[in-house]
Amino acid sequence: MKNSKICGRFAPTPSGRIHLGNIFCSLLAWLHAKSQGGEIVLRIEDLDKVRCPRPNADLLAKDLEWLGLTWDKGAYVSEDGERYFQSQRFDIYAEHFRKLEDRGLIYPCFCSRGQLHAAEAPHLSDGRILYAGTCKNLTVSEREERAKLRQPAYRLAVIDEPISFIDGNYGKQSYNLIEESGDFIVRRSDGVYAYQLAVTVDDGLMNVTHVVRGADLLSSTPIQIYIYKLLGFTPPEFLHIPLLMAPDGRRLAKRDKDLDLSMMRKEYDSPEPIIGYLAYLAGQIPKAEPISTLELAKIFKPELIPTDNIVVPPQLPRL
Ligand code: GLU
Repeated sequence: MKNSKICGRFAPTPSGRIHLGNIFCSLLAWLHAKSQGGEIVLRIEDLDKVRCPRPNADLLAKDLEWLGLTWDKGAYVSEDGERYFQSQRFDIYAEHFRKLEDRGLIYPCFCSRGQLHAAEAPHLSDGRILYAGTCKNLTVSEREERAKLRQPAYRLAVIDEPISFIDGNYGKQSYNLIEESGDFIVRRSDGVYAYQLAVTVDDGLMNVTHVVRGADLLSSTPIQIYIYKLLGFTPPEFLHIPLLMAPDGRRLAKRDKDLDLSMMRKEYDSPEPIIGYLAYLAGQIPKAEPISTLELAKIFKPELIPTDNIVVPPQLPRL
């Protein structure tokens, strides 16, 4: 049964061939929407055009098709498919950037990477830097002077208030952006809009109601909720999923060659063993065995998804 009130999305960054971790995320986002009769959008997050050339995205679309994942709207699907590539949406980000700027919430930041990494800058546990607000109170003439030497990045000022939300997998979350990120970058010094702004504007304008994505983005969620509210969008519901890890404790990445889809497609004639293995890791079936995406959509239960990150062997087990 169709349910036009639910809209999910998969928003990959095509910086290389997709691997098991990306497939895990695309599968769960797809199942979450499809099991409820909802729609799902495919958006290509190629803000960084150098790291994400178009042939990567073309291959990604073919891989997703091979896996049996179909999209209701988006890149390669909609008539205006080009508008689902973030690299083609800078005019839209600029318009929303200006709305925040007009409210006096954005200021230029001239700090170099070196200054930000200086000893006095407090570091967060995940390696990110808590921005100390160095450029927030520069005078107009100080800004003019610095602009002669350096193109600034632009930051959005945050507030000293908790932002709370219920994650569909990790439960109640509460963050104070003053302590967790400080004023964050919305436009880089090279003019590229930052992920946090782009993803929020896109999910808002694309009427996404449910975001299913990796747990590495859990701490970005309060930043995005803050932007949604400033721009007058209703935030979607969030469900974060555990990350797939290599046996040495690293996150699966492009270097885990045997688990990227080019290798796996050489091993398997059909996607069903890969889908079955991932469905098993996601707690959806009791034993790893081949299954199709359509069969899985009939039995999908988000409450069975585990919360702990999952270690996978260097090669997919033979099913
Ligand atoms: N483009 C991001 C990635 O591939 C995902 C962004 C999101 O789901 O919000 O990691």
